Amino acid sequence: MFESLLNHASNGLIPTGIVGKLVFLLVMTQLTILSVTLYLHRSQSHRSVDFHPALAHAFRFWCWLTTAMVTREWVAIHRKHHAHCETELDPHSPQMFGIGKLLLNGTELYMSARADPDLTARFGRGTPDDWIERHLYTPHCNWGPTVLAVLEIALFGVGGMAIWAVQMIWIPFWGAGVVNGLGHWWGYRNFETPDRSTNLSPIAIWVGGEELHNNHHAFPSSAKFSVRRFEFDLGWLVIRILSKLRLASVKRVAGTELRSKDGVRVERQPHQASLSDRVRVMTGFFRDVMLPALRDESRQSRAGIPPMHLRRALANGGRWLDDDERGRLNAWIETRPYLRTLCRFRAQLAVLMEQRDVDAGARGLSQWIQAAMASDIGPLKAFAQALAGESPAAT
Ligand SMILES: [Zn+2]
Ligand SMILES: [Zn+2]
Repeated sequence: MFESLLNHASNGLIPTGIVGKLVFLLVMTQLTILSVTLYLHRSQSHRSVDFHPALAHAFRFWCWLTTAMVTREWVAIHRKHHAHCETELDPHSPQMFGIGKLLLNGTELYMSARADPDLTARFGRGTPDDWIERHLYTPHCNWGPTVLAVLEIALFGVGGMAIWAVQMIWIPFWGAGVVNGLGHWWGYRNFETPDRSTNLSPIAIWVGGEELHNNHHAFPSSAKFSVRRFEFDLGWLVIRILSKLRLASVKRVAGTELRSKDGVRVERQPHQASLSDRVRVMTGFFRDVMLPALRDESRQSRAGIPPMHLRRALANGGRWLDDDERGRLNAWIETRPYLRTLCRFRAQLAVLMEQRDVDAGARGLSQWIQAAMASDIGPLKAFAQALAGESPAAT
């Protein structure tokens, strides 16, 4: 009797080998990642896709069972991140807290963000507020992982305990650490967003497509995170399959790709937000005007040229550089009148793109276009001409 109890405790109801347990763990963690990216992020936070009510509830249940995260709190923290990105109000910016803090202790930042009493009232609107949310999912959010622990220990014995422990650190590490931390710190950028978001990998599978974080910050209300031909977003593939099954309805998608000689542009879509227009214009300016000029400069004289990361910082006027680096970059620019002129045009354009007064913005843009066309810088003139064609009201 004692021996059989001991045997059950160590093997559980379903004795499986290490491979079986690893497959189970992978399926469980991928279901959790998909629930977070599809339901909490793309659907609840940004309203870019709607799910069939039964499927939406299944996602919500799964988040409760495997993460203890409350929909309204997650959504509010995430919307606050977009609203105050890379400022002291951003709940999890590696620029403010340091990348080490994000990678090793992102959960602490999440917990302190959820303690803000105004958080959900300001940023959590439109999230579920039904009976089960008020009586179970919110007040007893820790019951989910407790139930999960009991189930997994019953199924796999001691191995179930290990599976559960890995699941509990999965989202804190991959979500709070890797996406929120590295996704604003390391990787490549397709778009000159006003923040430091990056794409961690063009093949975005492991965290359900969230690896394409710079694309997401450029087009936050798009259900699809991939924009270039070589990028793949697993979350978007699942949404497409769910749409075919009539379980998902896509509300917004970022523009389709148009290739230009120097890079990629994204077509304007009628339903895209103005943020996307700002990102598109500033990205186009850097790619089509600044980058060719920087390449020419480095071809002409390699002596004294600042390293690549300093030259690339011209995309945002050196906003994220420290004082020493900015001084070094400015000193170099001062010796290059051609680049100095382009930097001045970029700074003026960036201010115009932030202009909230529509009439003043159109007037300013019209003057900017005229000044750019009157310059003797070919790429700048071509860019201004294209901009004039897009915004006839501004000319
Ligand atoms: Zn972000
Ligand atoms: Zn987002």
